[in-house]
Amino acid sequence: MHRQRACALSRFIIKARFLIEMKLYQEYLNYLSDLIFPGICPVCEKAPYQDGLSYMCLECEDLLAWITKNGCKYCGIPMSGFDFNGLVCAGCREDPPRFKRGKCLFLLDQNGKKIIHEIKYHGVKDVLKDLPRWLNRNDSFREFLHDSILIPVPLHRKRLRKRGFNQSVWIANAFKKDLGDRVQVIDALTRTRNTETQTEFDRIERKKNVKNAFALKHKNGLNKQNKLILIDDVYTTGATLDECAKALMQEGFQNVNVATLGHG
Ligand SMILES: [Zn+2]
Ligand SMILES: [Zn+2]
Repeated sequence: MHRQRACALSRFIIKARFLIEMKLYQEYLNYLSDLIFPGICPVCEKAPYQDGLSYMCLECEDLLAWITKNGCKYCGIPMSGFDFNGLVCAGCREDPPRFKRGKCLFLLDQNGKKIIHEIKYHGVKDVLKDLPRWLNRNDSFREFLHDSILIPVPLHRKRLRKRGFNQSVWIANAFKKDLGDRVQVIDALTRTRNTETQTEFDRIERKKNVKNAFALKHKNGLNKQNKLILIDDVYTTGATLDECAKALMQEGFQNVNVATLGHG
């Protein structure tokens, strides 16, 4: 009997290892294809880059739904052509977040989603080489980031181990690369619970899912006067960013803001 159980257990371990290796193998294949076919534009999936400097082709970059004006004070969504700093959209009026202000670079239409997908699921950091040009599309974005501390939204250690990288850290570092000494990146938060993927969740479920899931890891380099900006890849309902803001505010930080690439 013991012997049978031991056999079943060893079969289970072999199968689990096989599945893990397959996953890594697929990631490795993605990585190799990016090395062999660099710069295949994630939007049109055709044009290889021509100048060696940009990742997405410039024609496709023009097709993205850029947020060029000041949108909702909290979530950054454009509001029927208004460019007034301080308006609040209906969603944020109904359920105001804790953080002070927020900004996003583009809307998550089909093209915007492809960009995020390339970074988050294909692990292509090079897409972010284009970030300085993206920032040129919105006059107030750099100004918003100036003289702040960028804090990436953390992944749980288990998800980080599985994915191998945190895209929010990449994005924060890409902002830093563009802005130089005007900003600092401090990985100050930790995710204390491994929350479920939120893709299928509505606003209320998302809030519940991330409730109390974050904590301050350390205060090194932070002081109460700092302007803090939480960085994430996308702004959906703002639930995750708001929970991160809560974790910082409970520690006495009041000037908490958010910035993401996509909104939707
Ligand atoms: Zn293209
Ligand atoms: Zn809003």
